[in-house]
Amino acid sequence: MDDRGIAKVPFDVATYVRNMQGGRCFICALVAGEPEAFHEVVYEDDDHIAFLNRYPTLEGYVLVCPKRHLEDVIRDFSEEAYLALQALVRQIGVGLQAVLPVERIYVLSLGSLQGNAHVHWHVAPLPPDVPYAQQQYHALMGENGVIDQSPAAKAELARRLREELQN
Ligand SMILES: [Zn+2]
Repeated sequence: MDDRGIAKVPFDVATYVRNMQGGRCFICALVAGEPEAFHEVVYEDDDHIAFLNRYPTLEGYVLVCPKRHLEDVIRDFSEEAYLALQALVRQIGVGLQAVLPVERIYVLSLGSLQGNAHVHWHVAPLPPDVPYAQQQYHALMGENGVIDQSPAAKAELARRLREELQN
């Protein structure tokens, strides 16, 4: 547990992988408003949606996505569309730095054509004072546990971030 009372709990990676490899694209389902795909949305416009990661390895871990089901993070984007998405990635990082104590913002694109193929950028804030050996990939991997945060705490964090992003 860190000094803000945030603890990590074990994460069932095998079940997560099974869910990601079966069924419908969870990002398209979220965009379509399907209740089972609910996530705390922090930003939305005609082309983009950003929301709190359901299985955050860091508090405030946001995924930033095009609403369209695009799968290739480079080829499926015009330069203009790519830069628009990156502007949002930056804006989310600025918002996170305003609402949480942050030592470093991690930004990366992952996903797989074998599951969660819909392009999404990870914007993950590392809190201060995490020992070096527990930063970077260690901090991001579900195998090392996920943040145990109540739905109410997640909703409150999303509310503060939405408010920050509207300013
Ligand atoms: Zn999709």
